[in-house]
Amino acid sequence: MNRRDFLQGLAAAGAAASLPISASAADPPPRVRRAYTGPNVVIVRFGGGVRRRETIESDETYSPFLKKFLAPRGVLYPRMEIASAPGIKTSHGEGTLYILTGKYDEYKDITGRPFSERFEAKVPTVFEGLRKEYDVPEHQALIVNCEDRIGEEFYSFSNHHLFGVHYRSTVLSLYRFKLYLLRTAIADGKYRGAELIAKRNELTKLENLDYRAHDATATSPELDRFWRSWSDYYGRSGFVNPRGDRLLAELAVEAMRRLEPKLMMVNFNDPDYVHWGNKSHYTRGVTIVDECLRRLFDASNALPAYRDRTVFVVVPDCGRDDNPFVAVPYQHHFNTPSAHKIFFLAVGPGIDRGRVVEKQVEQISVAATVGKIMNFPTPYAEGSPLAEVFA
Ligand SMILES: [Zn+2]
Repeated sequence: MNRRDFLQGLAAAGAAASLPISASAADPPPRVRRAYTGPNVVIVRFGGGVRRRETIESDETYSPFLKKFLAPRGVLYPRMEIASAPGIKTSHGEGTLYILTGKYDEYKDITGRPFSERFEAKVPTVFEGLRKEYDVPEHQALIVNCEDRIGEEFYSFSNHHLFGVHYRSTVLSLYRFKLYLLRTAIADGKYRGAELIAKRNELTKLENLDYRAHDATATSPELDRFWRSWSDYYGRSGFVNPRGDRLLAELAVEAMRRLEPKLMMVNFNDPDYVHWGNKSHYTRGVTIVDECLRRLFDASNALPAYRDRTVFVVVPDCGRDDNPFVAVPYQHHFNTPSAHKIFFLAVGPGIDRGRVVEKQVEQISVAATVGKIMNFPTPYAEGSPLAEVFA
């Protein structure tokens, strides 16, 4: 046992001793937490799967805001990597969980359905770390997700016995919006008789998709108010433009306006449509994510709760292939060397400016770095904080 494991064991034993014997998932958190007064953090997942070449490497970048505006204002690590080892995959769900937990792990889908990526983290996410240390409500620890990756709806908390559902984050997505619409339609008496019974069953089934949540409430007054204003703005169909990552950016900006999250992760994804075989889906997707990043950055400068007190952390979930023998060299991200090569950028108060750190660093360092920015411990993260960010 090394020193780190030993210290983790001590911390775990101490925390376990303070838990009431009857603790269950439905109990309130067992400790008094401080108010959070540190910087907000926005984690921008520059996904799904982008290479350095089209983003931070060349002047012919498809993400000029990232490379030419934002990077010179912060600390850029152009050589962040996802480690190469058995069980470590270069894909969206895995990369997102490596970022969120600071630990490489072999994840297995728990549903058995193809492309499901329904993974469960075994060690706490940064959201749990923040909420265990500070009195931050669920609706101020947010993950913004696209609607066609339902598996990622379940990354809001880990299965760790000292963390978990007490400290979960809230997910904002069109999927959650549809749940809100169904819930309110039932409450407003829109359905009768057999249809009402069917709709109630459907709602119960959807709300219980995460069996780990037990009887934790599916919504909150703050979230209901948020979705009400969203439905007023975008109509109740859920099918009004914008779509894809532009929709995620709008959801995130609305959340900054109305919920004021302290920690928010936005899981952009548009470049991944290149899986369907059209080269321009990738490069256009990179540009869309770049524009969404600018949209979030501009919003943070316009909102008093965020101006001069928000750190942006930008990191891809994974890279993409570089295969010269196929028509679209970067169509997939099949664990090739290029799919392991990503980057990291932090910008904001307390972060050094105009610094490029050329050493190779690991994606699992992101969680501990976020923990250090927000001053909460990350004892289960295996990557160390990126020291040069704070110099
Ligand atoms: Zn993909």
